[in-house]
Amino acid sequence: MQIYEEPELQNLHKATFVQGRPSLEQVLPHGISREVFEVVVEAFASIVGRANVATGEDLLNFTDPFTPNNKFTPSAAVCPKNIVEIQAVLEIASKHSIPLWTCSRGKNLGYGGAAPRLKGSVVLSLYRMSRILEVNEKQAYAVVEPGVTFWDLSHYCLEKAPSLWASVPFISWGSVLGNTLDRGFGYNALGCHHENICGLEAVLANGDVVRTGQWAAEGAPTGPVSRQSFGPSVEGLFLQSNLGIVTKLAIWLQPRPETYMNVVVHAKDFDDIDGLLEAIAQLRRDDIIQNDPLLSNIILNALNLGMKRNEFQNSNGTLGEEAIEKIKEKYGLAYWACNFDFYGTKEMIMARLRRSREVILKLCPTARLEHELFEGEVGKPLDPKAIESVTVKGEAVGVATVWKAGMINFALPNDGSGHGAHCDFAPLLPHDGKFVKEWLTTAMSLFTEHGFDFLLGGHVFRRHFTAIHQSMYNSDDEEQVRRVDLLMDALDEKSREYRLTNYRAHLRQMDAFQDHYNFNSHAYKRLIQTIKHLIPREFCLPASKEFGPKEKTGFNTSSKMGSERPVIGTLSGIVVRS
Ligand SMILES: Cc1cc2nc3c(=O)[nH]c(=O)nc-3n(C[C@H](O)[C@H](O)[C@H](O)COP(=O)(O)OP(=O)(O)OC[C@H]3O[C@@H](n4cnc5c(N)ncnc54)[C@H](O)[C@@H]3O)c2cc1C
Repeated sequence: MQIYEEPELQNLHKATFVQGRPSLEQVLPHGISREVFEVVVEAFASIVGRANVATGEDLLNFTDPFTPNNKFTPSAAVCPKNIVEIQAVLEIASKHSIPLWTCSRGKNLGYGGAAPRLKGSVVLSLYRMSRILEVNEKQAYAVVEPGVTFWDLSHYCLEKAPSLWASVPFISWGSVLGNTLDRGFGYNALGCHHENICGLEAVLANGDVVRTGQWAAEGAPTGPVSRQSFGPSVEGLFLQSNLGIVTKLAIWLQPRPETYMNVVVHAKDFDDIDGLLEAIAQLRRDDIIQNDPLLSNIILNALNLGMKRNEFQNSNGTLGEEAIEKIKEKYGLAYWACNFDFYGTKEMIMARLRRSREVILKLCPTARLEHELFEGEVGKPLDPKAIESVTVKGEAVGVATVWKAGMINFALPNDGSGHGAHCDFAPLLPHDGKFVKEWLTTAMSLFTEHGFDFLLGGHVFRRHFTAIHQSMYNSDDEEQVRRVDLLMDALDEKSREYRLTNYRAHLRQMDAFQDHYNFNSHAYKRLIQTIKHLIPREFCLPASKEFGPKEKTGFNTSSKMGSERPVIGTLSGIVVRS
């Protein structure tokens, strides 16, 4: 199947999801006979076209390539092109009680890819809805459909809206909208994507279409730009929830600064983490640092420099203390590196650098700071591509790349055979150096006990540190796959002792992580489930209602909202994660 127009992205997609993958076992939605399922697939094909319903080998495109044991195999995937097709698909799914699992580009690797939480669900992939509806340079926002990739948005800004920087993650083949809904992040000043949502449009299970925030007021000049609301803010209902199918996202973009500086702080030993974390956290809280600093350990940093682990591993296969010392020497790295950026005028940037140096050296005296300053030539804008060519950190300045996809091959044997994979455990930690050091020491020992290298990279947000613990493995190796599961369970169990919560989860751990939110006998979960069941079973859409504010936002959507017939849907057609 052709999922991407750009050959580079399509080839990477094929290499990751399809090539060398064993055939999938054929599964059906729970309680549905093969005969009924064939009728359903025919009905989907009549809505979206046969080429846009995947079964058999094509279904590999909509799986989790990192989970090899078919635990989360879908029964089919259906790929609508617009809202009318989504509504018609919902109607069929509802009629036959077929669970749907929505994804946009389905690149949620480390968290389940495109695969559904409930085996046998039909994946509703929105990759064909791929229009950038608006990029507003003056007010610095974009309105995108689900299939728009970071690659698309980055190239659009570089070519057509040069006064803006898109926020992009390490690999740019994913969807801006999907990543934002799963609380993903990029690396510039607006890198915490869900915090920069300024309106969503979603189709509910009953076919109704809602918009949130100022966008709910038709034609409001502040429509997809202001994050203010009147009444409850409901955007959050559509994050990590499956309470609706999000079809448009309005999101802020960062205005390009006149001057830019990248700073890297190196701290020599593991034990320096408490002072380093305290310093960086203080600078972030005080708004001296303007983006969310990326704090990572030596294995992750050396991996990004092309380190081959086989060169250093112990007899038991892991990278122990001795190996870490050799890696430090070979690559000139310290145990910790913390990356952050400054934006503005040169004067402002130099003042921020001065203050950062004071705080860091006071709280972490062994630290060493490096910085690089970039200024546009007089009268010319600052060129992100020129910055990227020097720093190799395109993601910091809105330049989309995909080369970091190679990171996942870290644990493959010398001959490169097998399929690289990784699984993340990402708890939120407080701005408390002592606590963080204690937790990381414990987590590292669990990694070693289960035979995995401890890779850590996370963001120091304004009031907490999200520490992403990554285990790299070969997904063709059953023994490693078994051990990853054991490690993830052990981390979860230990995190309960520390009362930690995670911000994101792989399919296999979603329920376990949700269970940590247990105040008053899981009142939060009960509230969400109540909302789910409150959406009416039947809904008649207003006849011939023109859909979409083309007036103020400038974008033009031709979708009509159910003018031909009422669309009936039930929530049983959509599975809630919790
Ligand atoms: C080497 C490597 C590096 C990575 N680096 C980063 C990084 O820097 N930052 C980062 O954030 N992630 C990173 N990831 C994780 C992941 O690849 C990205 O977050 C990716 O952008 C997610 O895929 P997607 O955008 O295609 O979202 P999707 O897979 O399309 O969506 C993610 C989830 O959101 C929900 N969803 C999606 N679309 C809809 C919709 N229309 N309506 C309702 N719900 C929906 C679904 O639950 C879905 O599972 C990395 C992964 C790897 C392997």
